Amino acid sequence: MSPWAPARACPRCRGTHRRGEACPQAVAHERARHAEKNPFFNSDAWKALRARKLARCPWCECEDCRAQGLRVQATDVDHIVSRERAPHLALTWSNLRSMAHGHHSRKTAIEDGGFGR
Ligand SMILES: [Zn+2]
Ligand SMILES: [Zn+2]
Repeated sequence: MSPWAPARACPRCRGTHRRGEACPQAVAHERARHAEKNPFFNSDAWKALRARKLARCPWCECEDCRAQGLRVQATDVDHIVSRERAPHLALTWSNLRSMAHGHHSRKTAIEDGGFGR
């Protein structure tokens, strides 16, 4: 389901989500699947850094949100330069940005050809 669809009963959790809001269960599921394939995301170093980043920058920092001055709750921490391209920057603070889940997927889909593939 597109995260941009209007609010209606969610087939996954049976709740309703606001427009543009991803289902928290779907997010958790997707993250777990992603982590399985990417042991990096299960590392203590990453989890600690990620938690620190979200605490310090709780709002989405994607281009759209920044350009429009939006305050959207961030759920993910993204690498500005991907780990594939810059593995040595994987734990570098200045290479991190907080992201709302839908915005993160959108960027990932454009750059990497699809989330979790
Ligand atoms: Zn849901
Ligand atoms: Zn955003």
